[in-house]
Amino acid sequence: MTSHSTEPSDRPTAAGDAGLPPATASRPPGILGMTLDGLRAELAAAGEAPFRASQIMEWVHRKRVTAWAQMTSLPAALRHRLGECYGLRSLQVMRQQGANDTTRKFLFRLHDGRFIESVVIPANPALYGETADRHTLCVSTQVGCAMDCRFCASGLNGLTRNLDAAEIVEQVVQAEVLTGERMDNLVFMGMGEPLANYRNLMTALTILNAPWGTGIGARHITLSTSGLVPQIRKLAAEPLPVRLAISLHGATDAVRERIMPVNRKYPLAELIPALEEYVTAKRQIITLEYILIDGVNDSPEDAVQLARLARRLRAKVNLIPYNTVEGLPWVRPDEETQDTFAAIVRQQGATATLRREKGHDIQAACGQLRLREERELAEKP
Ligand code: SAH
Repeated sequence: MTSHSTEPSDRPTAAGDAGLPPATASRPPGILGMTLDGLRAELAAAGEAPFRASQIMEWVHRKRVTAWAQMTSLPAALRHRLGECYGLRSLQVMRQQGANDTTRKFLFRLHDGRFIESVVIPANPALYGETADRHTLCVSTQVGCAMDCRFCASGLNGLTRNLDAAEIVEQVVQAEVLTGERMDNLVFMGMGEPLANYRNLMTALTILNAPWGTGIGARHITLSTSGLVPQIRKLAAEPLPVRLAISLHGATDAVRERIMPVNRKYPLAELIPALEEYVTAKRQIITLEYILIDGVNDSPEDAVQLARLARRLRAKVNLIPYNTVEGLPWVRPDEETQDTFAAIVRQQGATATLRREKGHDIQAACGQLRLREERELAEKP
């Protein structure tokens, strides 16, 4: 059994086992984390007909059944066996916030009692009774985060664990089922550092993109990273043309280092060439995310430096006013400072957007909800 997508540390596997996972495993792996090829191979190794894999994917991804018994085109014995070997769902919805056509947050409880959240952001929010016509889902990839960015709520308690591929994919499946809407775009900007969970992320992306899976176009999927250089280079060589956003937040090492410890490991002198490699290999426009924090990175000189980097990378700049996190000292600059900053970046020849409302919404995904809810739920008997 080698084709599962979980990291080695997530689930112990006996060396040399093949076919369907042993029925005795304490928690069967999620079928939503299986690729078509992987499932075919496991079925074949278990003496089942490999063509069943496509049928199973159809039930799982198209019809989205929640019980094995509903897979009526499969022999009962196979359904029974599958039910012993794989899980169909593992995320339990604990709380929903927001209504149709506004930002909707879902708090999910994982099988081990941990929490993650996913946020649906409607693109053209309902105005005058019209409905939103596009939906973006902000997806989490880890429970907690090890990057330790000084301004971020997600890493306050460090990293607990990686999500497996099924847990990543299921956020999208559940969001679509719960809202009754198709997710048009995915942004990996929820909890966690996606590129620190590389293997599970890649498996999940394969499934989310595949026609037999969720079927979301790679160009409608954006990975956001704090700047893990080796993984950015690795990603540049992958065939899937997903979009890349970099959480830059500082245009010099001095500024970036102060708020993002990852910069000590991968300073700008390493990050920028890796991004150039990515841009050249993928022929893509990347996004530089830049949260504006009062007195930290919002001076006119910062704006000039940022524009210089953006021009060099032919990147688009996304300015996001910082969202206050309880217990952290940072605040957003006033609107005049924000506007001046954006104006300088543009004067210097870079493309920049300043997103006041959206930034706020997207931020809702960054661990703040989870921390509060986790505390509340833990206090309940
Ligand atoms: N680890 C990845 C993705 C998760 S965070 C990354 O670093 O890119 C998604 C975005 O939200 C990042 O740009 C992050 O820096 C930003 N962010 C985190 N906390 C924030 C806050 N309090 N206000 C505004 N943006 C924040």
